[in-house]
Amino acid sequence: MSTAVSKKLFIKTWGCQMNVYDSGRMADILAPLGYALTDSAEGADMVILNTCHIREKATEKVFSDLGRLRPLKEAKAGAAKAAQSEDGAEPMIVAVAGCVAQAEGEEIARRAPWVDLVFGPQTYHQLPEMVARAHRHAGRPLVNTDFPVESKFDHLPGEAGVQGATAFLSVQEGCDKFCTFCVVPYTRGAEYSRDAAGILAEARRLTAAGAREITLLGQNVNAFHGEGPDGSVWGLARLIRALAEIDGLERIRYTTSHPRDMDDDLIAAHRDVPQLMPFLHLPVQSGSDRILAAMNRKHDGDTYRRVIDRLRAARPDLALSSDFIVGFPGETDRDFADTLKLVTEIGFAQAYSFKYSARPGTPAAALDDQLPEAAKDDRLQALQQLLWAQQGAFNQGMVGRVIPVLLDRPGRRPGQLQGRSPWMQSVHLQAPAHLLGTIQPVRIIDAKQLSLTGTADLVAEEAA
Ligand code: SAM
Ligand code: SF4
Repeated sequence: MSTAVSKKLFIKTWGCQMNVYDSGRMADILAPLGYALTDSAEGADMVILNTCHIREKATEKVFSDLGRLRPLKEAKAGAAKAAQSEDGAEPMIVAVAGCVAQAEGEEIARRAPWVDLVFGPQTYHQLPEMVARAHRHAGRPLVNTDFPVESKFDHLPGEAGVQGATAFLSVQEGCDKFCTFCVVPYTRGAEYSRDAAGILAEARRLTAAGAREITLLGQNVNAFHGEGPDGSVWGLARLIRALAEIDGLERIRYTTSHPRDMDDDLIAAHRDVPQLMPFLHLPVQSGSDRILAAMNRKHDGDTYRRVIDRLRAARPDLALSSDFIVGFPGETDRDFADTLKLVTEIGFAQAYSFKYSARPGTPAAALDDQLPEAAKDDRLQALQQLLWAQQGAFNQGMVGRVIPVLLDRPGRRPGQLQGRSPWMQSVHLQAPAHLLGTIQPVRIIDAKQLSLTGTADLVAEEAA
């Protein structure tokens, strides 16, 4: 394999952390072919749009990006033609990856035939072969939306190294739950867990490369049931306990979880494992039992409340985040009031809330009683107001406290560093650059809606 020719790779990523992780791995796979990341599509040798299909408009956004890429591709083709005799320059490869690619493969081929590659989330380990074939395929995209029998995780190269102080690690993919609103079971396929040995090895490499915090990723990460080194099946709790043994790995998180898979072992891990951060994203979607049943969520409001009670008993400083959908077909004012009630009772440190968006091919999209946009808008506004107030109050509660902050990136202003609290709050402070990548005690002096301001006076005191 030659790495002599340096080629520019631009990846645009939409959607969840799994897509961020996948984009990183695509870059790792393409590195041995000479591709290095660049921050603009202009002049790039390969552009990958790594897409998300979870809500509508995603597809249209991809087509409008493709429309903007077309002249760039043509300009590069012209330049390549002129230069071909000198350095063998090749035309730009344009690729669509991720869940829109999986769901709309043939539609992309029809509407944007000048695209070179269309591939789903389970096939990107085959990128070297796909790239080799791309140039021969001119005139119609190569569409690869298989769910191969082999797992991509068995075919990925080691990570490129520099990941920073925080890293993602994908441990589980796909979903068998089939919530009636969701495309994930169709675009990501059936639930699959990696084996524990591979995950532990990846975590050790990430830690050796400077990661202090690792977030385990999966569409249903707490349904994890990977094979352990001893041949037995490991759940997520067992994996977390093994990860906590890794020297230098100071923080562990996991996302996204399903309330039904929050088992006793995992709740106990929140009590026993100090590296497991006191912050949990546990989507509930609605507070109405009627709507939860129509969503096929496999839990009701009280089951969710009980899980939260047990988690809080195990880890009293646990802060919660959630996902909500408003305006699901048939949702009444009363159903929506049940959602507000649940939010008021539980109290969230942060949350994501969405208007229901009918996704083609999902059961809920075929229901008759779809709500008008205006009703969804009103409910979203009311819910967000409540969640916003809870988040503001949670952040205010930090003022005056000294908390451990993982300083993971430079701040926006000179002399500033930015970091993350155990509860996922963004914290900024004046601090020397050599503290980057370390966890420091920080006194919080101010709180805004989305961030905290701290001082590093304790660091200075300790150094004195
Ligand atoms: N597996 C996770 C769970 O069970 O909650 C979530 C996966 S999904 C990628 C992330 C969030 O997108 C969901 O929790 C849901 O709130 C939102 N979402 C999914 N489909 C949606 C739809 N059709 N309309 C609006 N929001 C949707
Ligand atoms: Fe989608 Fe439901 Fe699976 Fe989450 S649990 S990925 S919302 S089908």
